[in-house]
Amino acid sequence: MKRPRIAMPTVNPSAKDPLRALRRKLHRRPELSGQEIKTPEFILEYLQACPPDEILEELGGTGMALLYEGEEEGPTLMFRCELDALPIQETSGSMHASLVKGVSHVCGHDGHMAIITGLAEKLGEERPARGRVVLLYQPAEETGEGALQVLKDPRFAQIKPDYVFALHNLPGYPLGAVVVREGVFSIASRGMIVELEGLTAHAAQPETGNSPAPALSELLMEMPQLPEQLSFNDFCLLTPIYVRLGEKGAFGTAPGVAQLMFTLRATRREDMQQLVEKAVEKVKKTAQKHDLNVNISWSDVFESTESDAESVTLVTEAAQQLEMPLQQLETPFRWSEDFGQFTLKHKGALFGLGSGEKQYPLHHSSFDFPDPLLPQGVNLFYQIIQRLLS
Ligand SMILES: [Zn+2]
Ligand SMILES: [Zn+2]
Repeated sequence: MKRPRIAMPTVNPSAKDPLRALRRKLHRRPELSGQEIKTPEFILEYLQACPPDEILEELGGTGMALLYEGEEEGPTLMFRCELDALPIQETSGSMHASLVKGVSHVCGHDGHMAIITGLAEKLGEERPARGRVVLLYQPAEETGEGALQVLKDPRFAQIKPDYVFALHNLPGYPLGAVVVREGVFSIASRGMIVELEGLTAHAAQPETGNSPAPALSELLMEMPQLPEQLSFNDFCLLTPIYVRLGEKGAFGTAPGVAQLMFTLRATRREDMQQLVEKAVEKVKKTAQKHDLNVNISWSDVFESTESDAESVTLVTEAAQQLEMPLQQLETPFRWSEDFGQFTLKHKGALFGLGSGEKQYPLHHSSFDFPDPLLPQGVNLFYQIIQRLLS
């Protein structure tokens, strides 16, 4: 379905800093993963005076890509930002705080979008000399679904980027510091959902049923120990995140069902594979021991994000040219980013842009993207384009 063009309140172009105004507008109107309908409209509205050569709407669901063609043949560069916000009630108390109850841009995706839109403005005024630039506004990053959806869209398959780049703001790092790492930048993670089924009974005669309680407590205690018991090459972690047994307040019933959820993390792909195998084996053996039916499913699957040497060098040289402080990341971040789906198939880099040492952490209810980072992000991406496409 084509998105209807509705007249939106425009960003005042005479405002001192229109990009900052756009960032704040996006901050005020956050949308959850997979429901990003208005956000792409706000972006297009902003770019009305300098449109791209082509717009791919509803890409991979609610995503959008803007295409800019150079005059001569050359490589295709993709720069990606995220459209989605989080189901968190904002507590920043700022003038531009979220107007949507229980939803907020506390991962800074509003800032990332404004940076890519600043880049769009520059490219709208002057196309690259050669090759092609694709600006991707990806949906549903927070759920780990969006990148895959975009990759599966046949229109994206035709883009075939030669390089893919993305940045994420990093609280706790000096404002404007460029943080790079060759190899894994952020690690892989996935959610494991375990459903155990025994037999309910009267709570007065539990021996006539089969409660999953003993299996549940065994798994809760023993699953997190798996990474220590196995020989992994790198960092591995298994964290219980949720349990449920029987029905709340059903004092007359000995439970027959239980549900457990775990998050698995690993730096290396082969370690994640081993951890998954061992976790499944452990759950199945425990269920068998207690004569329970078991069902295992997976959610929020994120690949590790890997940056190749050439792309990291490009980011590094661009930062040096702009005299931005550089920092090498020693060990990969323990969080995950679905940009890993792109680096799995394409050459590229995910890097960090410090959002201040005193900044609240990502996903903190008071996090607010610092506006002074906007021009720095735009210039850094633009410098990469200059290096490859001029
Ligand atoms: Zn996030
Ligand atoms: Zn994020």
